[in-house]
Amino acid sequence: MARQVCIIGGGVIGLASAYALVRAGHDVTLIDARDTLGSETSFANGGQLSYRYVAPLADAGVPLQALGWLLRGDSPLKLRPRLDPQQWRWMAAFLGACRGSVNRRNAAHLLRLASLSQATLQQWREDDRLDGFDWRRNGKLVTFRNADTFEHARRKVTDILQQQVLSAADCTRLEPALASGGFVGGIYTPNEEVADCHAFCQRLAARLQASGHCRFLLGRKVTGIRHSAGAVQAIELGEEVMPVEQLVLAAGHRSAELGLPGLVLPLYPLKGYSLSVPIGAQHRAPNVSITDYDRKIVYARIGEQLRVAAMVDIVGFDAGLEPKRLALIRRQAVETFPLAGDYAQAVEWAGMRPATPTGVPLIGASAYRNLWLNLGHGALGFTLACGSGQLLAELIGQHMPSIDMQGLAPRAA
Ligand SMILES: Cc1cc2nc3c(=O)[nH]c(=O)nc-3n(C[C@H](O)[C@H](O)[C@H](O)COP(=O)(O)OP(=O)(O)OC[C@H]3O[C@@H](n4cnc5c(N)ncnc54)[C@H](O)[C@@H]3O)c2cc1C
Repeated sequence: MARQVCIIGGGVIGLASAYALVRAGHDVTLIDARDTLGSETSFANGGQLSYRYVAPLADAGVPLQALGWLLRGDSPLKLRPRLDPQQWRWMAAFLGACRGSVNRRNAAHLLRLASLSQATLQQWREDDRLDGFDWRRNGKLVTFRNADTFEHARRKVTDILQQQVLSAADCTRLEPALASGGFVGGIYTPNEEVADCHAFCQRLAARLQASGHCRFLLGRKVTGIRHSAGAVQAIELGEEVMPVEQLVLAAGHRSAELGLPGLVLPLYPLKGYSLSVPIGAQHRAPNVSITDYDRKIVYARIGEQLRVAAMVDIVGFDAGLEPKRLALIRRQAVETFPLAGDYAQAVEWAGMRPATPTGVPLIGASAYRNLWLNLGHGALGFTLACGSGQLLAELIGQHMPSIDMQGLAPRAA
Protein backbone atom coordinates (compact mmCIF):
# COMPACT_ATOMS: atom_id res chain seq x y z
CA MET A 1 0.00 0.00 0.00
CA ALA A 2 1.41 3.39 -1.03
CA ARG A 3 1.92 5.66 1.95
CA GLN A 4 2.30 9.42 2.40
CA VAL A 5 5.55 9.91 4.27
CA CYS A 6 6.92 13.16 5.65
CA ILE A 7 10.67 13.24 6.41
CA ILE A 8 12.31 15.81 8.69
CA GLY A 9 15.93 16.25 7.56
CA GLY A 10 17.53 16.45 4.13
CA GLY A 11 21.00 15.17 4.94
CA VAL A 12 22.30 11.94 3.44
CA ILE A 13 20.10 9.87 5.79
CA GLY A 14 16.84 11.71 5.04
CA LEU A 15 17.55 11.75 1.30
CA ALA A 16 18.52 8.07 1.13
CA SER A 17 15.32 7.28 3.07
CA ALA A 18 13.27 9.36 0.60
CA TYR A 19 14.94 7.64 -2.35
CA ALA A 20 14.26 4.15 -1.00
CA LEU A 21 10.65 5.09 -0.15
CA VAL A 22 9.94 6.54 -3.61
CA ARG A 23 11.54 3.48 -5.24
CA ALA A 24 9.14 1.35 -3.19
CA GLY A 25 6.14 3.30 -4.49
CA HIS A 26 5.48 5.75 -1.64
CA ASP A 27 5.00 9.53 -1.80
CA VAL A 28 7.35 11.71 0.20
CA THR A 29 7.47 15.27 1.51
CA LEU A 30 10.97 16.13 2.70
CA ILE A 31 11.51 19.17 4.92
CA ASP A 32 14.81 20.83 5.76
CA ALA A 33 15.62 23.95 7.75
CA ARG A 34 18.37 24.85 5.29
CA ASP A 35 17.86 26.23 1.79
CA THR A 36 20.21 23.62 0.29
CA LEU A 37 20.02 19.87 0.83
CA GLY A 38 22.95 17.97 2.31
CA SER A 39 24.56 21.11 3.64
CA GLU A 40 25.04 20.22 7.33
CA THR A 41 27.06 17.17 8.44
CA SER A 42 26.67 15.53 5.03
CA PHE A 43 28.48 18.42 3.33
CA ALA A 44 32.27 17.82 3.45
CA ASN A 45 32.75 14.65 5.48
CA GLY A 46 35.60 12.18 4.94
CA GLY A 47 33.95 10.63 1.86
CA GLN A 48 34.94 7.11 2.85
CA LEU A 49 32.43 4.33 2.26
CA SER A 50 34.06 2.24 4.92
CA TYR A 51 31.96 -0.92 4.81
CA ARG A 52 34.34 -3.14 6.74
CA TYR A 53 35.85 -0.75 9.30
CA VAL A 54 32.73 -0.19 11.35
CA ALA A 55 33.80 -0.98 14.92
CA PRO A 56 32.29 1.62 17.27
CA LEU A 57 34.46 4.10 19.15
CA ALA A 58 33.29 2.73 22.52
CA ASP A 59 35.62 -0.17 23.32
CA ALA A 60 37.59 -1.68 26.20
CA GLY A 61 40.65 0.45 26.96
CA VAL A 62 39.26 3.57 25.24
CA PRO A 63 38.61 5.56 28.47
CA LEU A 64 42.25 5.12 29.53
CA GLN A 65 43.54 5.91 26.04
CA ALA A 66 41.28 8.98 25.95
CA LEU A 67 42.76 10.26 29.22
CA GLY A 68 46.23 10.00 27.66
CA TRP A 69 45.05 11.86 24.54
CA LEU A 70 43.45 14.67 26.54
CA LEU A 71 46.83 15.51 28.07
CA ARG A 72 48.45 15.97 24.64
CA GLY A 73 48.51 19.16 22.58
CA ASP A 74 48.09 17.21 19.32
CA SER A 75 45.23 15.05 20.56
CA PRO A 76 42.60 13.81 18.09
CA LEU A 77 40.10 14.08 20.97
CA LYS A 78 38.96 17.18 22.81
CA LEU A 79 36.54 17.38 25.72
CA ARG A 80 35.04 20.61 27.00
CA PRO A 81 32.77 19.65 29.92
CA ARG A 82 29.59 21.73 29.97
CA LEU A 83 26.72 22.30 32.36
CA ASP A 84 24.55 20.20 30.11
CA PRO A 85 22.84 17.05 31.38
CA GLN A 86 22.64 15.75 27.78
CA GLN A 87 26.44 15.78 27.56
CA TRP A 88 26.90 14.01 30.92
CA ARG A 89 24.22 11.41 30.23
CA TRP A 90 25.80 10.69 26.85
CA MET A 91 29.29 10.32 28.32
CA ALA A 92 28.05 8.05 31.11
CA ALA A 93 26.34 5.81 28.55
CA PHE A 94 29.45 5.90 26.35
CA LEU A 95 31.64 4.76 29.25
CA GLY A 96 29.11 1.99 29.95
CA ALA A 97 29.53 0.77 26.35
CA CYS A 98 33.35 0.67 26.61
CA ARG A 99 33.56 -3.11 27.00
CA GLY A 100 35.04 -5.60 24.56
CA SER A 101 31.93 -7.78 24.45
CA VAL A 102 29.62 -4.78 23.82
CA ASN A 103 31.96 -3.47 21.11
CA ARG A 104 32.02 -6.85 19.32
CA ARG A 105 28.25 -7.19 19.45
CA ASN A 106 27.66 -3.65 18.13
CA ALA A 107 30.34 -4.06 15.46
CA ALA A 108 28.44 -7.14 14.20
CA HIS A 109 25.19 -5.11 13.93
CA LEU A 110 27.03 -2.35 12.04
CA LEU A 111 28.74 -4.82 9.73
CA ARG A 112 25.37 -6.32 8.75
CA LEU A 113 23.99 -2.86 8.01
CA ALA A 114 27.16 -1.83 6.13
CA SER A 115 26.95 -4.90 3.84
CA LEU A 116 23.34 -4.08 3.05
CA SER A 117 24.38 -0.48 2.38
CA GLN A 118 27.08 -1.49 -0.08
CA ALA A 119 24.68 -3.83 -1.92
CA THR A 120 21.92 -1.17 -1.96
CA LEU A 121 24.18 1.54 -3.39
CA GLN A 122 25.39 -0.90 -6.04
CA GLN A 123 21.78 -1.68 -6.95
CA TRP A 124 20.84 2.01 -7.21
CA ARG A 125 23.92 2.71 -9.32
CA GLU A 126 23.17 -0.17 -11.66
CA ASP A 127 19.34 -0.17 -11.85
CA ASP A 128 18.86 3.60 -11.86
CA ARG A 129 22.21 4.59 -13.42
CA LEU A 130 22.75 6.82 -10.41
CA ASP A 131 26.06 8.59 -10.94
CA GLY A 132 27.77 11.99 -10.84
CA PHE A 133 29.13 11.80 -7.28
CA ASP A 134 32.75 10.71 -7.89
CA TRP A 135 32.14 7.16 -6.71
CA ARG A 136 35.11 4.77 -6.94
CA ARG A 137 36.00 1.36 -5.48
CA ASN A 138 39.54 2.40 -4.59
CA GLY A 139 40.31 0.26 -1.52
CA LYS A 140 41.32 1.46 1.92
CA LEU A 141 44.68 1.22 3.63
CA VAL A 142 44.91 1.69 7.39
CA THR A 143 48.49 2.68 8.23
CA PHE A 144 50.16 2.33 11.62
CA ARG A 145 53.01 4.39 13.09
CA ASN A 146 53.26 2.40 16.30
CA ALA A 147 54.46 -1.24 16.33
CA ASP A 148 52.17 -2.19 19.25
CA THR A 149 48.98 -0.84 17.67
CA PHE A 150 49.96 -2.52 14.38
CA GLU A 151 50.51 -5.85 16.12
CA HIS A 152 47.18 -5.53 17.94
CA ALA A 153 45.37 -4.73 14.68
CA ARG A 154 46.96 -7.50 12.63
CA ARG A 155 45.75 -10.09 15.15
CA LYS A 156 42.17 -9.00 14.33
CA VAL A 157 42.57 -9.34 10.53
CA THR A 158 40.14 -11.83 9.00
CA ASP A 159 39.85 -13.48 5.60
CA ILE A 160 36.09 -12.87 5.68
CA LEU A 161 36.73 -9.15 5.28
CA GLN A 162 39.39 -9.86 2.61
CA GLN A 163 41.99 -7.84 4.50
CA GLN A 164 45.71 -8.03 3.76
CA VAL A 165 48.54 -7.25 6.19
CA LEU A 166 51.25 -5.15 4.47
CA SER A 167 54.78 -4.20 5.48
CA ALA A 168 55.84 -0.52 5.32
CA ALA A 169 57.51 -1.20 1.95
CA ASP A 170 54.34 -2.92 0.64
CA CYS A 171 52.29 0.09 1.73
CA THR A 172 54.49 2.43 -0.34
CA ARG A 173 54.35 0.04 -3.31
CA LEU A 174 50.55 0.04 -3.12
CA GLU A 175 50.34 3.80 -2.57
CA PRO A 176 53.47 5.66 -3.74
CA ALA A 177 52.18 8.95 -2.26
CA LEU A 178 53.08 7.48 1.16
CA ALA A 179 56.81 7.84 0.37
CA SER A 180 57.41 10.33 3.21
CA GLY A 181 57.31 7.29 5.53
CA GLY A 182 56.73 7.17 9.29
CA PHE A 183 54.73 3.91 9.10
CA VAL A 184 55.57 0.44 10.35
CA GLY A 185 52.91 -1.28 8.22
CA GLY A 186 49.29 -1.33 7.20
CA ILE A 187 46.13 -3.31 6.61
CA TYR A 188 44.59 -3.12 3.16
CA THR A 189 40.95 -3.80 2.32
CA PRO A 190 40.44 -3.74 -1.48
CA ASN A 191 36.62 -3.53 -1.64
CA GLU A 192 36.15 -0.25 0.19
CA GLU A 193 34.75 2.72 -1.72
CA VAL A 194 34.84 6.50 -1.79
CA ALA A 195 32.51 9.22 -3.06
CA ASP A 196 31.43 12.82 -2.58
CA CYS A 197 28.62 12.81 0.01
CA HIS A 198 27.30 16.28 -0.83
CA ALA A 199 27.23 15.50 -4.57
CA PHE A 200 25.47 12.21 -3.73
CA CYS A 201 22.80 14.16 -1.81
CA GLN A 202 22.36 16.50 -4.79
CA ARG A 203 22.02 13.55 -7.20
CA LEU A 204 19.44 11.83 -5.00
CA ALA A 205 17.51 15.11 -4.73
CA ALA A 206 17.54 15.59 -8.52
CA ARG A 207 16.22 12.06 -9.11
CA LEU A 208 13.57 12.50 -6.42
CA GLN A 209 12.46 15.77 -7.96
CA ALA A 210 12.24 14.13 -11.40
CA SER A 211 10.22 11.19 -10.03
CA GLY A 212 7.18 13.39 -9.36
CA HIS A 213 6.71 11.54 -6.04
CA CYS A 214 8.77 13.79 -3.78
CA ARG A 215 8.06 17.35 -2.71
CA PHE A 216 10.73 19.44 -1.00
CA LEU A 217 10.04 22.13 1.58
CA LEU A 218 13.39 23.89 2.03
CA GLY A 219 14.30 26.68 4.42
CA ARG A 220 11.49 25.47 6.70
CA LYS A 221 12.35 24.50 10.25
CA VAL A 222 10.10 22.03 12.02
CA THR A 223 9.46 23.60 15.42
CA GLY A 224 7.23 21.00 17.02
CA ILE A 225 5.43 17.68 16.60
CA ARG A 226 1.78 17.35 17.64
CA HIS A 227 0.57 14.01 18.94
CA SER A 228 -2.39 12.31 20.56
CA ALA A 229 -3.39 8.75 21.45
CA GLY A 230 0.09 7.30 20.82
CA ALA A 231 0.42 8.67 17.28
CA VAL A 232 1.81 11.84 15.74
CA GLN A 233 -0.83 14.01 14.08
CA ALA A 234 0.95 17.00 12.60
CA ILE A 235 4.15 19.00 12.50
CA GLU A 236 4.52 22.66 13.29
CA LEU A 237 6.49 24.91 10.96
CA GLY A 238 6.36 28.08 13.02
CA GLU A 239 2.77 29.27 12.75
CA GLU A 240 1.82 26.68 10.13
CA VAL A 241 0.50 23.26 11.14
CA MET A 242 0.88 20.45 8.60
CA PRO A 243 -0.95 17.12 9.14
CA VAL A 244 1.13 13.98 8.60
CA GLU A 245 0.28 10.35 7.92
CA GLN A 246 3.72 8.76 8.48
CA LEU A 247 6.60 10.82 9.91
CA VAL A 248 10.33 10.06 9.74
CA LEU A 249 12.76 11.85 12.05
CA ALA A 250 16.14 12.11 10.31
CA ALA A 251 17.32 15.47 11.59
CA GLY A 252 20.90 14.43 12.41
CA HIS A 253 22.40 15.73 15.65
CA ARG A 254 19.42 18.08 16.16
CA SER A 255 16.87 15.25 16.24
CA ALA A 256 16.61 15.30 20.04
CA GLU A 257 15.41 18.93 19.97
CA LEU A 258 12.13 17.67 18.52
CA GLY A 259 11.60 15.33 21.44
CA LEU A 260 8.18 14.02 22.39
CA PRO A 261 7.05 12.69 25.77
CA GLY A 262 8.57 9.23 26.27
CA LEU A 263 10.88 9.55 23.26
CA VAL A 264 14.43 9.42 24.56
CA LEU A 265 17.09 9.97 21.91
CA PRO A 266 20.59 9.32 23.28
CA LEU A 267 22.31 11.68 20.83
CA TYR A 268 25.23 14.07 21.17
CA PRO A 269 27.23 15.87 18.48
CA LEU A 270 30.84 14.75 18.02
CA LYS A 271 32.44 17.64 16.19
CA GLY A 272 34.98 16.97 13.46
CA TYR A 273 36.80 18.96 10.80
CA SER A 274 37.86 18.55 7.22
CA LEU A 275 40.09 20.19 4.63
CA SER A 276 39.32 19.94 0.92
CA VAL A 277 42.64 20.35 -0.86
CA PRO A 278 42.61 20.98 -4.64
CA ILE A 279 44.76 18.55 -6.63
CA GLY A 280 46.53 19.86 -9.74
CA ALA A 281 48.33 17.95 -12.50
CA GLN A 282 51.68 18.49 -10.71
CA HIS A 283 50.51 16.98 -7.39
CA ARG A 284 50.89 13.43 -6.08
CA ALA A 285 47.78 12.63 -4.06
CA PRO A 286 46.94 9.14 -2.78
CA ASN A 287 44.49 7.13 -4.87
CA VAL A 288 43.76 4.58 -2.18
CA SER A 289 41.82 5.91 0.85
CA ILE A 290 44.17 6.14 3.82
CA THR A 291 43.41 6.05 7.53
CA ASP A 292 46.37 7.14 9.66
CA TYR A 293 45.37 5.01 12.63
CA ASP A 294 47.56 6.52 15.34
CA ARG A 295 46.72 10.12 14.43
CA LYS A 296 43.06 9.32 13.62
CA ILE A 297 43.13 11.19 10.30
CA VAL A 298 41.46 9.95 7.12
CA TYR A 299 42.46 10.91 3.58
CA ALA A 300 40.32 10.32 0.50
CA ARG A 301 40.77 11.45 -3.05
CA ILE A 302 37.36 12.65 -4.22
CA GLY A 303 37.55 13.69 -7.85
CA GLU A 304 40.16 16.46 -8.10
CA GLN A 305 40.40 17.15 -4.39
CA LEU A 306 41.95 15.46 -1.39
CA ARG A 307 39.56 15.33 1.54
CA VAL A 308 41.36 15.23 4.90
CA ALA A 309 39.08 14.63 7.90
CA ALA A 310 39.79 14.23 11.59
CA MET A 311 39.08 15.03 15.27
CA VAL A 312 36.41 14.07 17.77
CA ASP A 313 35.56 17.14 19.84
CA ILE A 314 32.93 16.81 22.58
CA VAL A 315 32.35 20.53 22.98
CA GLY A 316 28.63 21.21 22.66
CA PHE A 317 26.51 22.29 19.69
CA ASP A 318 28.68 25.10 18.25
CA ALA A 319 29.71 24.03 14.74
CA GLY A 320 32.12 26.97 14.25
CA LEU A 321 35.63 26.47 12.81
CA GLU A 322 38.41 26.28 15.41
CA PRO A 323 41.66 27.55 13.86
CA LYS A 324 43.97 25.59 16.23
CA ARG A 325 42.33 22.25 15.43
CA LEU A 326 42.39 22.95 11.69
CA ALA A 327 46.04 24.05 11.83
CA LEU A 328 46.94 20.74 13.49
CA ILE A 329 45.17 18.72 10.77
CA ARG A 330 46.87 20.80 8.08
CA ARG A 331 50.34 20.33 9.66
CA GLN A 332 49.89 16.56 9.95
CA ALA A 333 48.51 16.27 6.40
CA VAL A 334 51.42 18.23 4.93
CA GLU A 335 53.85 16.05 6.88
CA THR A 336 52.27 12.84 5.57
CA PHE A 337 51.46 13.90 1.99
CA PRO A 338 53.64 16.97 1.26
CA LEU A 339 53.00 16.89 -2.50
CA ALA A 340 49.33 15.87 -2.47
CA GLY A 341 47.74 19.19 -3.34
CA ASP A 342 47.63 22.96 -3.01
CA TYR A 343 47.27 23.27 0.76
CA ALA A 344 47.23 27.09 0.54
CA GLN A 345 43.85 26.82 -1.24
CA ALA A 346 42.36 24.21 1.11
CA VAL A 347 38.74 24.80 2.11
CA GLU A 348 38.08 24.35 5.83
CA TRP A 349 34.90 22.83 7.24
CA ALA A 350 33.45 21.58 10.54
CA GLY A 351 30.58 19.14 11.04
CA MET A 352 28.67 17.48 13.88
CA ARG A 353 28.49 13.68 13.84
CA PRO A 354 25.06 12.66 15.22
CA ALA A 355 26.38 10.06 17.66
CA THR A 356 24.75 7.52 19.93
CA PRO A 357 26.91 6.29 22.83
CA THR A 358 27.16 2.79 21.33
CA GLY A 359 27.87 3.97 17.77
CA VAL A 360 24.82 2.05 16.51
CA PRO A 361 22.06 4.12 14.81
CA LEU A 362 18.35 3.94 15.63
CA ILE A 363 16.35 2.72 12.61
CA GLY A 364 12.65 1.86 12.67
CA ALA A 365 9.48 2.27 14.67
CA SER A 366 9.28 4.45 17.79
CA ALA A 367 6.88 4.41 20.73
CA TYR A 368 4.51 6.50 18.53
CA ARG A 369 2.93 4.18 15.99
CA ASN A 370 3.41 6.36 12.89
CA LEU A 371 6.72 7.99 13.92
CA TRP A 372 9.83 6.37 12.47
CA LEU A 373 13.46 7.04 13.35
CA ASN A 374 16.51 7.05 11.11
CA LEU A 375 19.22 8.81 13.09
CA GLY A 376 22.40 8.53 15.16
CA HIS A 377 24.76 7.32 12.42
CA GLY A 378 27.76 9.05 14.02
CA ALA A 379 31.02 8.65 12.11
CA LEU A 380 29.49 6.33 9.48
CA GLY A 381 26.42 8.12 8.12
CA PHE A 382 27.52 8.16 4.49
CA THR A 383 28.60 4.51 4.67
CA LEU A 384 25.33 3.37 6.26
CA ALA A 385 22.87 5.71 4.51
CA CYS A 386 21.62 3.51 1.65
CA GLY A 387 21.12 0.43 3.84
CA SER A 388 19.39 2.50 6.52
CA GLY A 389 17.07 4.08 3.94
CA GLN A 390 16.30 0.69 2.43
CA LEU A 391 15.46 -0.83 5.83
CA LEU A 392 13.24 2.09 6.74
CA ALA A 393 11.31 1.80 3.45
CA GLU A 394 10.81 -1.92 4.05
CA LEU A 395 9.55 -1.34 7.60
CA ILE A 396 7.17 1.49 6.60
CA GLY A 397 5.90 -0.62 3.70
CA GLN A 398 5.31 -3.50 6.16
CA HIS A 399 7.74 -5.81 4.39
CA MET A 400 10.22 -8.19 5.94
CA PRO A 401 13.48 -6.25 6.47
CA SER A 402 16.45 -7.38 4.32
CA ILE A 403 18.59 -8.02 7.40
CA ASP A 404 18.06 -9.03 11.01
CA MET A 405 17.09 -5.83 12.87
CA GLN A 406 18.57 -7.00 16.15
CA GLY A 407 20.47 -4.14 17.78
CA LEU A 408 19.33 -1.62 15.14
CA ALA A 409 15.65 -1.19 16.00
CA PRO A 410 15.00 1.53 18.61
CA ARG A 411 13.95 -0.02 21.91
CA ALA A 412 12.72 2.46 24.54
CA ALA A 413 12.44 5.33 22.04
C1 LIG B 1 34.69 15.35 10.03
C2 LIG B 1 33.71 14.28 9.64
C3 LIG B 1 34.12 13.25 8.82
C4 LIG B 1 33.23 12.22 8.47
N1 LIG B 1 33.64 11.25 7.61
C5 LIG B 1 32.79 10.26 7.24
C6 LIG B 1 33.20 9.27 6.33
O1 LIG B 1 34.33 9.28 5.82
N2 LIG B 1 32.33 8.27 6.03
C7 LIG B 1 31.08 8.22 6.58
O2 LIG B 1 30.35 7.26 6.31
N3 LIG B 1 30.63 9.18 7.42
C8 LIG B 1 31.46 10.21 7.77
N4 LIG B 1 31.05 11.18 8.64
C9 LIG B 1 29.70 11.07 9.25
C10 LIG B 1 28.59 11.56 8.32
O3 LIG B 1 28.96 12.79 7.72
C11 LIG B 1 27.30 11.73 9.13
O4 LIG B 1 27.01 10.56 9.85
C12 LIG B 1 26.09 12.03 8.21
O5 LIG B 1 26.37 13.13 7.39
C13 LIG B 1 24.85 12.29 9.03
O6 LIG B 1 23.81 12.52 8.12
P1 LIG B 1 22.38 12.99 8.64
O7 LIG B 1 21.51 13.05 7.45
O8 LIG B 1 21.98 12.15 9.81
O9 LIG B 1 22.65 14.44 9.25
P2 LIG B 1 22.82 15.84 8.50
O10 LIG B 1 23.61 15.71 7.27
O11 LIG B 1 23.31 16.82 9.53
O12 LIG B 1 21.34 16.20 8.06
C14 LIG B 1 20.36 16.55 9.01
C15 LIG B 1 19.46 17.57 8.34
O13 LIG B 1 18.36 17.82 9.19
C16 LIG B 1 18.04 19.19 9.08
N5 LIG B 1 17.31 19.57 10.29
C17 LIG B 1 17.72 19.49 11.58
N6 LIG B 1 16.76 19.93 12.40
C18 LIG B 1 15.71 20.28 11.62
C19 LIG B 1 14.42 20.80 11.90
N7 LIG B 1 13.99 21.04 13.15
N8 LIG B 1 13.58 21.08 10.86
C20 LIG B 1 13.99 20.84 9.57
N9 LIG B 1 15.21 20.35 9.27
C21 LIG B 1 16.04 20.07 10.28
C22 LIG B 1 19.39 19.89 8.96
O14 LIG B 1 19.26 21.17 8.35
C23 LIG B 1 20.17 18.91 8.11
O15 LIG B 1 20.15 19.22 6.73
C24 LIG B 1 31.90 12.23 9.00
C25 LIG B 1 31.49 13.28 9.81
C26 LIG B 1 32.36 14.31 10.13
C27 LIG B 1 31.89 15.45 11.00
